[in-house]
Amino acid sequence: MQVYSTRNHQQIVSLKEAVVRGLAEDGGLYMPLHIPILSPDFIKNLSKLSQTELFYAIAQNMIGDTMPPQTLHDIIEEVFNFDLPVVHLHDAMYSLELFHGPTLAFKDVGARFMSRLLAYFYRNENQTLQVVVATSGDTGSAVAAGFYEVPGIQVFILYPKGKVSYLQEKQLTTWGKNITAIEVEGTFDDCQVLVKQLLSDTELNAKLKITSANSINIARLIPQSFYYFSSFAQLQSLGKPIVYAVPSGNFGNLTGGILAQKMGLPIRQYVAATNINDVVPQYLKSGLYQPQSSKATISNAMDVGAPSNLERLQHFFPHFPDFQKGISGYSYTDQQTSEIMQDVYRKYGYILDPHGAVAYLGLTDYRKEHPDTIGVFLETAHPAKFKDTVESILGISLALPESLQVFANKEKKSICIDNHYQTVVDIIQSKNLN
Ligand SMILES: *Cc1c(COP(=O)(O)O)cnc(C)c1O
Repeated sequence: MQVYSTRNHQQIVSLKEAVVRGLAEDGGLYMPLHIPILSPDFIKNLSKLSQTELFYAIAQNMIGDTMPPQTLHDIIEEVFNFDLPVVHLHDAMYSLELFHGPTLAFKDVGARFMSRLLAYFYRNENQTLQVVVATSGDTGSAVAAGFYEVPGIQVFILYPKGKVSYLQEKQLTTWGKNITAIEVEGTFDDCQVLVKQLLSDTELNAKLKITSANSINIARLIPQSFYYFSSFAQLQSLGKPIVYAVPSGNFGNLTGGILAQKMGLPIRQYVAATNINDVVPQYLKSGLYQPQSSKATISNAMDVGAPSNLERLQHFFPHFPDFQKGISGYSYTDQQTSEIMQDVYRKYGYILDPHGAVAYLGLTDYRKEHPDTIGVFLETAHPAKFKDTVESILGISLALPESLQVFANKEKKSICIDNHYQTVVDIIQSKNLN
């Protein structure tokens, strides 16, 4: 598999280089040069395959030329050792639950796949690899879980001070060993800028080997196309057009969905649902991209004011009218989000987390105009990750799943810094073991 940079179509590198580098040299994001299309016959028979067989077939089609078949098969089996169930809520509304992985958020999918790919591609190198990641809450812990105790790899998690939930913070800061949590006085966007600066710092990269585990890394993107296939497989026999609503922040999840569509999965429509950080819904209306500074909401993993993956989406849809047609944008306030969580809990006994709730709202609004469709919304986090918020909105008490309880009992360890580039560089250099 070869990839190109969104900023320069002639800048072509191998998948290995793209995964190890994270961001292209020119600051662009890597995109697949060719997307092999799966046959209609394969699509028709999706449901005959087990999850592992299905994901392996898709991965083989896409990146089969980059490693031996058995290695790829082992990676798929290991990464997806949890369920991705489709739950029927009511009428033609389904929840695709992506939160059954080790850190209880959909980020586990991309982070686990990326860590295995990176470990494979980097297996013969002897220089320490520094993996930096900016997180609005869930990415950091998924990445930490994926790389914990992997020899030769140091992980640096940058997160915005005071803007992640108590349990999310525990999941970021209690690892130790090769995982360092850096608490930045600033927003998620500030953290993301710091990461991009690290990756494009030629002087630093001459000394250290640095990569990013953010959704800008193409290894995160690829597996985020898989669960669209497995969920589609379960619903296609109903014989109606299928629509997906994706709760979006940096738009990596939705970009994975578009990738699935480009591989031949006949998804009718995507709904991009955001909180009040609505840069993309606004862009879909006006054609003007106006990044903003991010505003804090109860769906904090989507508090992104300058979504990185828009650049990729623009490459998937080079003509703006196609972009507008392929993705419907909706945005919601915290008030609307809380109300729908109460409503769905009361009527159907289902606990939405604040992110899934935003997607549920988007899907409901879209389906008002297109009633003859089957709607799937992505439930991207376990509600217990946002225990305080969910409990106060629903007036219930939530039991912590055991995997969260373990983190809650550990002691937070982080390095608190101002939003200052050189300080981050100093921390990273101090952990360089070469
Ligand atoms: C990261 C995240 C999102 C947003 O996903 P993007 O790929 O950044 O659009 C939504 N929900 C949860 C729970 C997340 O952790």
